[in-house]
Amino acid sequence: MSEYGLSEEHQALTAMVRRFATEVIAPQIGDLYVKEEFPYEIVAQLGELGIFGLPFGEEWGGQGGDYLAFCLAIEEIARIDSSVAATLEAAVGLGSVPLMRFGTDAQKKQWLPDLVAGRTVGAFGLTEPDGGSDAGATRTTARLDGDQWVINGSKAFITNSGTDITSIITVTAVTGQKANGGKEISAIIVPAGTAGLTVAPKYSKVGWNCSDTHALSFDDVRVPADNLLGERGRGYAQFLQTLDEGRIAISALGVGLAQGCVDECVKYAQERSAFGQPIAKYQSIAFKIADMQTRAHTSPVPPITTPPSDFSPARISSEKRRSRSSTAPRSRWTTRGTRRRSTAAMAS
Ligand SMILES: Cc1cc2nc3c(=O)[nH]c(=O)nc-3n(C[C@H](O)[C@H](O)[C@H](O)COP(=O)(O)OP(=O)(O)OC[C@H]3O[C@@H](n4cnc5c(N)ncnc54)[C@H](O)[C@@H]3O)c2cc1C
Repeated sequence: MSEYGLSEEHQALTAMVRRFATEVIAPQIGDLYVKEEFPYEIVAQLGELGIFGLPFGEEWGGQGGDYLAFCLAIEEIARIDSSVAATLEAAVGLGSVPLMRFGTDAQKKQWLPDLVAGRTVGAFGLTEPDGGSDAGATRTTARLDGDQWVINGSKAFITNSGTDITSIITVTAVTGQKANGGKEISAIIVPAGTAGLTVAPKYSKVGWNCSDTHALSFDDVRVPADNLLGERGRGYAQFLQTLDEGRIAISALGVGLAQGCVDECVKYAQERSAFGQPIAKYQSIAFKIADMQTRAHTSPVPPITTPPSDFSPARISSEKRRSRSSTAPRSRWTTRGTRRRSTAAMAS
């Protein structure tokens, strides 16, 4: 996304995350990527920088920033490595946001502070072997037995579900039948390590190698009835809302990846010589790279902001964003807290 028109604090955040991605992520991610290892150290440092808490209120240990700030961080990280960006996006967008938005105070107190600090990561289990795009085809079931939910079924492709620091996996399950005969789908929080939950070996993927992705099976998994997330029967609506926001962050990831490709092309064109000079000097190559840069630079990631108080993102047009950016109020989330933490984290 163009930096033109961003508020001072968004620009400061962008610069800080870009520096972290270049100086901290880039030197070590290649090895981890080849070994398909989860980037624990990087996640811990991003946690110290406050990046996992960007769009959350300070009462939960967050930065009190907005969703645009979070998208900018995703974009800058994806410019260097998409799997770290996907880890962050899933941890925040799928792990923490549903809890923040729909959870009870008790649920938030139990899990949110560690998630927001990046000490733990959360996962969201919607997809099933026979229910991907057709998310309503959920077969996993949860029945109430006294004061416990008993969950049976399986999930596929669940990000962040099998790391050493995974704390919760929120799963959708059929909890009954609606009056119209349709499935009543609810969302239930399953703590990692609950008996009966089996995490399959991680997928070997063609990309996003450092992102942790597993199939899960649930065999009479028992969790307290209080682990219901939000209202019973509202699971489908909840995850549609969750995915709407997630798509925006994932599109920021795509824009960052496109910019990262341009960066690599520029570097290569300057290093590679043919017919006695760097290929960057040839007009056709320069035009191609300029075209790529134009496309990456103008990619229309919808700018959004998220008031931390009610956490309901509202899309705004880029014109509105430009006109109000110069008068945007300064807040603490990049100018003091994050910057101070960033310096400390980078120094260590
Ligand atoms: C790396 C990775 C991480 C993931 N992380 C998570 C996660 O954390 N949590 C989670 O719940 N899920 C996760 N997913 C699952 C992801 O959300 C699903 O892959 C996605 O919903 C698509 O489902 P599917 O793979 O079953 O594809 P399918 O539904 O089988 O679709 C296959 C193709 O058919 C097309 N198609 C399907 N229906 C239609 C239609 N009606 N009209 C036209 N075309 C159609 C699709 O667009 C697609 O191109 C992850 C997937 C991957 C690859």
